[in-house]
Amino acid sequence: MGYTNLSKESSRLRRNVEEQQSYQWVQNDGQGYLELPLLRHPGLTHFFGTRLLANVSLEDGHKPIRLRQIHGDRIHPVNEANASILDSGDPTEGDGLITALPNRLIMVSTADCLPVLLFDPVSMAVAALHAGWRGTVSNISGKAVAAMIATYGSDPRDLLVGFGPSIGPCCFEVERDVVEAVETQTAFQEQVIEQKTESKWQLDLVALNRLQLIEAGVLAGRMATTGLCTSCLPNLFFSYRRDRKRDGALQSGIMLV
Ligand SMILES: [Zn+2]
Repeated sequence: MGYTNLSKESSRLRRNVEEQQSYQWVQNDGQGYLELPLLRHPGLTHFFGTRLLANVSLEDGHKPIRLRQIHGDRIHPVNEANASILDSGDPTEGDGLITALPNRLIMVSTADCLPVLLFDPVSMAVAALHAGWRGTVSNISGKAVAAMIATYGSDPRDLLVGFGPSIGPCCFEVERDVVEAVETQTAFQEQVIEQKTESKWQLDLVALNRLQLIEAGVLAGRMATTGLCTSCLPNLFFSYRRDRKRDGALQSGIMLV
């Protein structure tokens, strides 16, 4: 490869990194949240919450649909038949929602775990996932792609994926049990785990979900991350690990409009 090619290649890589990490801060009536330019699309609204997003309500009277999250890999399709059951006061257990219904906001809450939003601009369908390390090693992201293929006929190459703020590898120190789960349940341990001391490792949750999504057929260039660590930014984000308590969670959601 000659010098010209090399410099072209490196500027292409730099552009990719910039595109994939760019996020936009949105402030509205005292509420603050983040958007990813990759997911800005006609017919779609999305947000990744911060400490400054207290209440999410919809003007049309529909309630946001949330689950009782249990760090699993169960994904619920939201359709005409079950939407009014799912948005009732008693949430169903699970960690992922998919829907092709317009005006139905699907949401996840996190405070270190990774919120993942998916959008199929061809079949017009969306997904919201809560991916902590347990859900991630169970491949909740790959299962969401499979559910979108089975339910909406999605082609994974059409999907756009956004990763919200989560605990970054900078702060996500794990022990032997997590390392073993990653080793036995995924094929990517070498790319996502780094050993720090004899008994401490660091896990990159975004990288692992990314690799699982690529394995499921999603194109690398159609994914973006805020690149923000919940533990590093106390003014913006809740973090269970940093604060050692649950004093709030970040609300992220996606909706076809
Ligand atoms: Zn950090």
